[in-house]
Amino acid sequence: MSLPRVRLDRCTREDGVWRLDAPQVRHLVKSLRCYDGAAVEGLLEENGGMKLLMRLESKDGVYCLRETGRLERTPDKLEITLLIALLKALQFDEVLRASAELGVGEILPVECERSVPKTGERLPQKTLRWRKILDEGSLVAGSVFPTKINPAVKFGEIPWDSLPENRIAAVISPASRPISEIAAREGQVVYAVGPEGDWSERETSVLLSRNFVPVTLGKRILRASTAAMAGCAWLRLGTC
Ligand code: SAM
Repeated sequence: MSLPRVRLDRCTREDGVWRLDAPQVRHLVKSLRCYDGAAVEGLLEENGGMKLLMRLESKDGVYCLRETGRLERTPDKLEITLLIALLKALQFDEVLRASAELGVGEILPVECERSVPKTGERLPQKTLRWRKILDEGSLVAGSVFPTKINPAVKFGEIPWDSLPENRIAAVISPASRPISEIAAREGQVVYAVGPEGDWSERETSVLLSRNFVPVTLGKRILRASTAAMAGCAWLRLGTC
């Protein structure tokens, strides 16, 4: 059974202890019913990422964590970036939850020609909500670094040069290679998935011109969210 987890970067360090912020006190004490002396896993983004064994202490209603040891942490061999077309809310939420659990490092939402949601529509509120889903999923999964989500951009504004060299795109085409042939096992990879209405011809040719290798996920046509989750799972589980 895994220990309850907190993000130490959100706490304040005072005299050798970490004072918990209010949301994490609610999470630990109210939701998880942790008691004084309970063991807790502290996730810390310092020094490339650390996991600390902590003990919960409280005094006059103030809750703190005291370090009692270090926990082993094995960094991911493969950093995954997901370039995903904006999808309708339910589908997009599914992608976010799975991405957080699979340790996707970064998500770049893209408004494609056939995306139903548009970037301008209530984007700040959506981005806040997306970040909350990713934060929660990453914490439960024990990722020291929460999955990051970038502000959504239009397809023509994708920052191609900032993407990893190793590039694959889920494209429904006889020319696509099976994703199982793609040896992305370490380093960085970006995986692109189109909208419910599929990539447009123009988008597909731009992806190919930007050195994305077209991959197929098999003969079945998957929903965009399933294609995103299946591809990320393939990439992640291949490095376990
Ligand atoms: N509307 C299209 C159709 O019915 O042929 C399907 C588009 S699919 C729902 C949305 C996205 O998921 C596609 O743009 C592609 O990126 C990905 N996708 C779904 N199934 C796939 C498969 N078998 N191989 C590769 N990509 C797939």
